[in-house]
Amino acid sequence: MDTANISSSPIDIAGHSGSMTGHGISSPTGMKRRKTDIHIDDTPPPPPPPPRLLDYEPIIGQAVLDELRYLAEALQGKSVKMVNSTAMGGGVAEMLNSLVPLIVELGVVTHWDVITGGNDFFEITKAFHNALHGGEYHLTRKTQEIFLQNNDQNRKRIQFDEDVIVIHDPQPAALISERDARNAKWVWRCHIDLSNPNAEVWSFLKPMVERFDAAIFSSQSFAQRLSVPQYLFYPCIDALSEKNKELDESYIQQICDDYGIDRSRPVVTQISRFDRLKDPLGVVKAYQMAKKYVDLQLVLAGGSASDDPEGAQVLAEVEDAAANDPDIIILNLPPWSGLQINALQRASTIIVQKSLREGFGLTVTEALWKSKPTIASAVGGIPNQVIHKLTGALVHSVEGCAYQIRYLLTHPDHARQLGKNGHEHVKENFLMTTNVKRWLLLLRFLLGAKEK
Ligand code: UDP
Repeated sequence: MDTANISSSPIDIAGHSGSMTGHGISSPTGMKRRKTDIHIDDTPPPPPPPPRLLDYEPIIGQAVLDELRYLAEALQGKSVKMVNSTAMGGGVAEMLNSLVPLIVELGVVTHWDVITGGNDFFEITKAFHNALHGGEYHLTRKTQEIFLQNNDQNRKRIQFDEDVIVIHDPQPAALISERDARNAKWVWRCHIDLSNPNAEVWSFLKPMVERFDAAIFSSQSFAQRLSVPQYLFYPCIDALSEKNKELDESYIQQICDDYGIDRSRPVVTQISRFDRLKDPLGVVKAYQMAKKYVDLQLVLAGGSASDDPEGAQVLAEVEDAAANDPDIIILNLPPWSGLQINALQRASTIIVQKSLREGFGLTVTEALWKSKPTIASAVGGIPNQVIHKLTGALVHSVEGCAYQIRYLLTHPDHARQLGKNGHEHVKENFLMTTNVKRWLLLLRFLLGAKEK
């Protein structure tokens, strides 16, 4: 078991080096420890080797692997470039880390590039992200210029020699201006909830999107009126990644000991970036309501993706809301915490995802895959995953979330059955290998690939 990335250099996992807030977390023996007592690496460990197709055989079976190889035959030697806005943190980077090596193994030459930009650019793209999720935003000429200039610098920096260029999300969408100089097919892969976009931001982006050959959305409800074909690709998780693979019980226990989580009592967890749209403050309120009736601890574990400058502020607000409650454990984890997140999810009695808006919600997929009873908001792609009372519990409010926490903690058989059903649902629909198949089919279609 690889535990190398735990317990070495002293960084404050609350992310406020030098700012001792005095909030304690309780150790299993009930002794209070300060957050600064907990040490994890402040440098990323080398990434583990990506899984090979054969490694999936025990999970999905030989026939599905054969199908992938067959679909890839007509694409041998074709090339793809994926462009994303962040190399680490957030669901998209996570997914590309597994997807790209598998497509490469199937004979399609695939590269993954990350755009660069100043703080002003990433503040704007964060605001765009929130606005496309339905938030208020007024687009100025200056904002548009910064967005376009940063894209233009990236356009000059990145090579676009591949047969298919895939642009992920709005941040690099203006790279499409390179299209005329190339003979490639361009695809816009949108991972965010576009069901109710801010009109100003969407009307700025839409003409760019309509220059692509195709747009891909993560849910039926995100589809837009567009002049280009649209496809539905559910996102997915990698069952063999550090975040999702099976773990030794001793490792799970060690993580709980390190973080002061008492496994003899119920543990309710939300794993999410400290972002308002993930509603961590709502989770604290739901916990406080449920706590009047049932004993539980709350774990809020997250970090800030490199394209999200707002994270530190939200984290500080969550720490304030948690006040001095030793049963609220707040963990600000670095982006390379896959194993720790996996262990936290597996150690949880219930997993919550109380987002106000959501893309697909990969944390929900991860929770279901681990057969955890899951309570999640009916936003974004979550209802595709959590079918109410079948694969989890869908909620619409803080009160609803508190009620479900209380209900599931007091009805463990029902909770167990939800978790079991959730696991099967993910296996059927949201694993990486299903995603590889969708990409192969789309590439074949775009490139007019025929059997040899
Ligand atoms: N995640 C992580 N570290 C964190 C918080 C989240 O690695 O501190 C992971 C989480 O396990 C999931 C992904 O980041 O795999 C988040 O994807 P999701 O679709 O839930 O939300 P996003 O952050 O992309 O909005």
